[in-house]
Amino acid sequence: MKSVDIEKIKQDDRNYVLHSWAKQKQVNPKTITKAKGIFFWDDEDKKYYDMCSQLVYLNVGHAHPKLLEEFKHIGEIPISAPGFATASKAELARKIIDVAPSNMAKVFFANGGADSNDHAVKIARMATGRYKIFSRYRSYHGATFGAGNLSGESRRFTVEPGLPGFIKFDVPYLYREVIDFENEEAATKFYLDRLRNQMLYEGPETIAAVFMEPIPGSNGVLIPPKGYLEGVRELCDEFGILMICDEVMTGFGRTGKMFAVDHFDFEPDMMTFAKGVTCGYSPLGGVIVSEKVAKYFDDHVLMTGLTYSGHTVSTQIGCATLDIYKDENLIEHADEVGKVLASRLEELRGYDSVGDVRHIGLFAAVELVKDKTTKEPIIAYGMDYGKDKVGLMSQFVSLLSEFGFYTYSHESSVIIAPPLVITEQELNESMDLFEQVLTLFEKDVLF
Ligand code: PLP
Repeated sequence: MKSVDIEKIKQDDRNYVLHSWAKQKQVNPKTITKAKGIFFWDDEDKKYYDMCSQLVYLNVGHAHPKLLEEFKHIGEIPISAPGFATASKAELARKIIDVAPSNMAKVFFANGGADSNDHAVKIARMATGRYKIFSRYRSYHGATFGAGNLSGESRRFTVEPGLPGFIKFDVPYLYREVIDFENEEAATKFYLDRLRNQMLYEGPETIAAVFMEPIPGSNGVLIPPKGYLEGVRELCDEFGILMICDEVMTGFGRTGKMFAVDHFDFEPDMMTFAKGVTCGYSPLGGVIVSEKVAKYFDDHVLMTGLTYSGHTVSTQIGCATLDIYKDENLIEHADEVGKVLASRLEELRGYDSVGDVRHIGLFAAVELVKDKTTKEPIIAYGMDYGKDKVGLMSQFVSLLSEFGFYTYSHESSVIIAPPLVITEQELNESMDLFEQVLTLFEKDVLF
């Protein structure tokens, strides 16, 4: 594209582009004309703090010089079909295994998050010879048919009636749990007992895998109670079920460690990834499998594939991205700045409309309520995506945007997940804006 005619872009967009999860008549997108680090500018030259890293993928920030430089070298590695070994695919697989949990052995490359999850389901079914897949309510695993069936929130209704064999179980969501548990351990025991029962009811010998975001992201950064994930691992071991962790959003430093599972004391059998592996500079996803799963396919055909599996351009960008995490100590940095975010978020608990704050590293959600005592949510469950007539959450997010704080919400939770390169000062500036908006929202809109 040589010159930028904003009006023409918008006109073509209106006329020819179908936008996701939206009534097309209500779509009126801005254009990003410039971007750098944690900031971007719209077509009216308004500056925004990108506090959700676009869709929680721009971990290294906008216009990272090393990635822009890498693009100059695209074409040096010949474009080749998945059957060929290429320098970038081989190197990236090695680099991913180097940073993955110690039991992980090989990588199957896909194009993004949803199709990575679809492939994980297929791989689990092949490796176990079983067909049922357990996944959780309040999860999001993607919009394809398979990943849509895995998902446990309102976006899955778009793929209903669902596929047979996809079973949902409850997620620990302690803020909204009706039982008042004595402590986290008691909550863990409750959820694990329920899950074990459900496995028995379904017939453990039919269950191929338990699929979970270790920390559900879009649905409000739901941190699991102590021992819960380890307990799920034990149940999987008891019944010979594979445990698959969806690290599409949490992977590559978001939580202050390389993967979210690194915060806990267990190893999954498979992990899916996308977003942070290339930070969106080129689309890429994949499935990391354990030594045990990898070995199964030594003598069995891996009956799946994609034209662009291990795409030369995307894996080259992936290699450069992984170098950036390491060279710039980005993950340690996310952990450090995450502490500043944590303290700013904890202070928000003083506001009447803030029901809960949940955070780990640079991955956080602020859950808003109409009434702190009754915990009445701003939006009732399932009322997102054009059904919320009152539009209180949309108003809140629009106000944030007006103040230059760009992010999105899901149900009553606002996501805060800035690029990992954010400085302490930028974080404080952006959270000052958040508090100004919260004050205004409570005064002019909510109460
Ligand atoms: N899994 C998780 C945990 C996600 O957060 C997402 C997207 O937000 C996906 C899967 C789907 O990824 P994609 O949109 O790249 O298909």
